[in-house]
Amino acid sequence: MLLTAPRIHDGHHFLPPGSALEVDDRTGTVLAIRTGEGARGARHYPGVLCPAFINAHCHLELSHLAGLLPRGTGLVPFLRGVVAHRAAFTEAQKREARRAAAAALHRAGTAAVADIANTPDTAELRAAGAPLHIHTFVECIGFHPAEANARFAAAKAVEAQFAAAPLAPGRIARQSVVPHAPYSVSEALMRRIGSDGEGILSIHNEESPAETAWFANGTGPVRDLLAGLGLPLEGHQPTSAPASLPVYGAWLPKHRRLLLVHDTCTTEATARWAIARFPKLHWVLCPGANLYIEGRLPDVPALLRAGADLCLGTDSLASNDGLSILAEAAHLHRAFPNDAPWEALLRWATSSGARALEMDDVIGSFAPGKRPGVLHLTPDFSAVQEWIVPHDL
Ligand SMILES: [Zn+2]
Repeated sequence: MLLTAPRIHDGHHFLPPGSALEVDDRTGTVLAIRTGEGARGARHYPGVLCPAFINAHCHLELSHLAGLLPRGTGLVPFLRGVVAHRAAFTEAQKREARRAAAAALHRAGTAAVADIANTPDTAELRAAGAPLHIHTFVECIGFHPAEANARFAAAKAVEAQFAAAPLAPGRIARQSVVPHAPYSVSEALMRRIGSDGEGILSIHNEESPAETAWFANGTGPVRDLLAGLGLPLEGHQPTSAPASLPVYGAWLPKHRRLLLVHDTCTTEATARWAIARFPKLHWVLCPGANLYIEGRLPDVPALLRAGADLCLGTDSLASNDGLSILAEAAHLHRAFPNDAPWEALLRWATSSGARALEMDDVIGSFAPGKRPGVLHLTPDFSAVQEWIVPHDL
């Protein structure tokens, strides 16, 4: 089939006017980009065509918390709320919420998701429901150095359950153990996770001013949170660093692919430090959740000046109104119309996310041989009209 539209984004750029996309309608494989005479006879769609989206940060296991936690509280009260509500639902309610959220992800044009897991709860989604490629980041939390080995072993056991879970045909599913956040993982545990194989790493990075205060002088709401969880705090050495990333980043290996999520408080200088240290670095912005929790956005112009490779995530339904990558892009476009034009936003939403999840050989761009899925967007980028070509044929 031959498809055309006033604007076609190939995952990197808008193609010249008059281009058409040739796709094998049996397999969904991209065959060619055609121009001139070769584009004649293409089926015309008003609006925009682009590859299906990659959601580079989502917590499907928290889907049952939709709408429960108040806005604008700041990170620490938010995390307390997550912990407080965790036991208040039946397994059946939680399973239903997870399946509905996965279906919503797919309806919103998502081909692949980076799913953050503390439990094996989302393993069943690999075989059931919406056709998503999934990289599961099994999250490890452990403040006290003495518990590093036990916490790591528990996460490896969860990871093994994901690795053994049944997988529907045609889907990509991988997993790796990752640290939760700079303030919730000891140096010993951070180093243990970093030395665990070659899989992708992901961490919630510089999400809140409270995190910076904890690293800079050992005070503030993060201290209160950890104390409230009953964690012993005597091991924490304030570093007088103006940011957390240069502290914990030195504990992680340079060569592994690393996703830094949120980056709400990251400065240009810190971003430059990290980009110089980690050759395979990705910055995952979740603006909807930042606005929901902290009421502020990352400094996108500063990140871009530093040369950051950006992609997009939704975080969870506990901290967002939906699971739409297009809605995340719209948040950034409203706040940074000059630095985040739609040509860049659609790149972050597709090919950049695919590289971050090491799925760019299959999805994320209209290159011959790939099966990225084809979306039809409204002319104003406000909605996904339809999946023209599925990514899982
Ligand atoms: Zn998160």
